[in-house]
Amino acid sequence: MKQKRRLNRILSLRLVALREISVVVRVASKLSNPCYFGVTILQHELAIRFGSFLAILCLLAVLERFVPRRPANEPLHGIRWLNNLALVVLNSISLRLLFPLLAIDMAAIVQSEGWGLLNLWSPPEPLAVFFGVLVLDLVIYAQHVAFHKIPLFWRLHRMHHSDVDVDASTGIRFHPIEIFLSMLIKIATVAAVGISPVAVLIFEVLLNATSLFTHANIRLPKQIDTVVRWIFVTPDMHRIHHSILRYETDSNYGFNLSLWDRMFRTYRRQPKMGHKKMTLGLPQFRERHYQKLLGLLKIPFVRYRRKE
Ligand SMILES: [Zn+2]
Repeated sequence: MKQKRRLNRILSLRLVALREISVVVRVASKLSNPCYFGVTILQHELAIRFGSFLAILCLLAVLERFVPRRPANEPLHGIRWLNNLALVVLNSISLRLLFPLLAIDMAAIVQSEGWGLLNLWSPPEPLAVFFGVLVLDLVIYAQHVAFHKIPLFWRLHRMHHSDVDVDASTGIRFHPIEIFLSMLIKIATVAAVGISPVAVLIFEVLLNATSLFTHANIRLPKQIDTVVRWIFVTPDMHRIHHSILRYETDSNYGFNLSLWDRMFRTYRRQPKMGHKKMTLGLPQFRERHYQKLLGLLKIPFVRYRRKE
């Protein structure tokens, strides 16, 4: 009964938050296209998020076909895509079923209760949203470093690195336990900093999109790559993070902004062997069964010693 009341409260707070998001988006959209967003964004929030994810994934898959950076690992291409897609379905469903509240729900509670640093400071709304997105990006960078440096966390994260090729489908290849831990970290950050639901929504949509983009096997013109990576992580920059060489794997941790890698000296400009010749993945887990769903889920529980 108590749990039901708590759930009802979370749901009602979430509706309030989503209503506020709708207002912000409506106001913002009036500047460009007043009839595009409107109140329907609330009713179709999930569909919009899923739709944009699918659209970006399809666009990148087409670009990978026509302007690839490296030749695809053909014998495993189909099986990798199928099982990486199966993982994203499993992760999305299990997160919704097993978690009583998500980061956006916590943001609604925080806003209603006035918790967190930003609610003490009370900056103007656009600044609070910008700061919220920035803090979440920094936390995800720090979490990524921790998943490499702490052996127990590396067991989970190495499943993502076990992909023997890197393309847009690698951007959705994460172990469910890593996804759960990441959600807990985001919830704690939202509560401590007082991040608004708008900022959480923007960050989640951004993170989904950039995770697909930075893993994509696409060739960007050199000049564009150079300019873009002053601010954002590019596919060439993130591919180095998937090198089989450990000192390259332990670099370029950023997902959205390249700023953090430069600031914390984890930035690496180019791979030693060049993008076309470098080997991707881990020395272990290269067999075919590790590209299938069950094999993927078992990876954290396989014993092996990580080489320097
Ligand atoms: Zn990593």
